Amino acid sequence: MDFTSVDSPEMAAFRKEVREYLDKIVPKDLVDSPDWRDYPESDHQKRRDIAKNLGSKGWLAPTFPKPYGGGGLSIDHAIVIDEELERVNVSMGDVGGIYSPAIMVWGTDEQKNRMLPPILTGQVQTWILLTEPHGGTDLASAKTTAIRDGDEYVINGSKTFVGSDRKPDQFWTLVLSDPKGPRHQNLSWIMIPTDLAGITIQPLNILSTGGVGDHNNSVFFEDVRVPAQNLVGGENKGWQVSSTAMEIEHGGGGDVGPNRILEHFFNFCKTNEIDPDSRDLIADVYLNEDSRRLFGLRNFWKRHAKQPMSYDGSQFRYVRRMGGLRNARLMQQIIGYMALTRDKEWAPEDRWMELFMRNSITAVHPGGTQNIDKVIIARRMGIGRSVKEEAGKLE
Ligand SMILES: Cc1cc2nc3c(=O)[nH]c(=O)nc-3n(C[C@H](O)[C@H](O)[C@H](O)COP(=O)(O)OP(=O)(O)OC[C@H]3O[C@@H](n4cnc5c(N)ncnc54)[C@H](O)[C@@H]3O)c2cc1C
Repeated sequence: MDFTSVDSPEMAAFRKEVREYLDKIVPKDLVDSPDWRDYPESDHQKRRDIAKNLGSKGWLAPTFPKPYGGGGLSIDHAIVIDEELERVNVSMGDVGGIYSPAIMVWGTDEQKNRMLPPILTGQVQTWILLTEPHGGTDLASAKTTAIRDGDEYVINGSKTFVGSDRKPDQFWTLVLSDPKGPRHQNLSWIMIPTDLAGITIQPLNILSTGGVGDHNNSVFFEDVRVPAQNLVGGENKGWQVSSTAMEIEHGGGGDVGPNRILEHFFNFCKTNEIDPDSRDLIADVYLNEDSRRLFGLRNFWKRHAKQPMSYDGSQFRYVRRMGGLRNARLMQQIIGYMALTRDKEWAPEDRWMELFMRNSITAVHPGGTQNIDKVIIARRMGIGRSVKEEAGKLE
């Protein structure tokens, strides 16, 4: 079966429109490079402007309703936009994101009208703060408290391994709102504007995944007073809200388009003399990548077509992350130790291979590790439990 999409005349015309618009708004010198981490503030602002331009057309959230800042468009439009964004290969910081469906599903009308447009039109950048120093994987053990005081919640505690190298406009986070309540019924999901008093962001110097501005931080809250209207889904109902956000983070959002770094690898194989016996290893790399691409496309379609999901998200994420690790090993076998260097003289394909090696390791951890993918798959199959776990609710 051939899964390569062929545009209908309508989609071909739309693709042309998107391509021409992107060529107009993306500065030619603003491509992502293996030195992503070091890009200047002026570049950051240019990236934010691209997001705002796309947002003004509803193309940051093509299938979301127009009144909330989305495009009101079809899945086919969304696929075309995603593919064309992949083609220009430019990142836009912490825009859009995994928390918008959670607001869509669990927010009140007032919250949807107030919170969604700035996010979906690229006006605000957001970090998602879930991991705590003591808890890691066990998100439900959150100790950062949010105690109601009049019209505000007072936040105290800390989160870690979060964010990027540019301070965002808001945090979305899971907090302990009933310290004496039962597990999973004691948490709340709240948006915290980052300009409030009592917030400290402390950068962490750890191995980077290599994404644009990729840089983790710890965030500390000391008596931070947050308007109560920012709590979404009801007090102590945060676990169900976070399960919607996590459904997307755990792969339920899918992905469209090729892996750019692997395209560098295939280019290296085509343009250099390599051992003919490596051909079967190169085919393995290709097959791992194609499995990732097809699972990603399936989930992207299912999500936007509002099809029910089970373990689809974690299955895609597991295949993507383990396939990435396997590919890193295969690429080392094919290219040799040069794949590991950042030395400009020796590094193949302008150091993209080294970035892939590093990324394949660190990318296993964000949003829960590969072990958690397997735990979720088992629960959704009903293995080890009397009741099958349901996927987080999406709309
Ligand atoms: C690059 C990067 C970006 C990140 N970005 C964010 C972010 O934006 N926001 C955010 O909130 N967090 C973020 N994180 C944190 C990430 O979600 C955590 O690292 C992850 O959830 C694992 O937690 P931990 O590192 O504390 O490991 P631990 O929870 O201590 O786990 C240690 C080991 O035990 C295994 N393990 C733990 N529990 C189980 C279980 N029940 N069953 C089987 N095995 C288990 C794990 O798989 C792992 O191998 C990021 C992490 C990294 C590395």
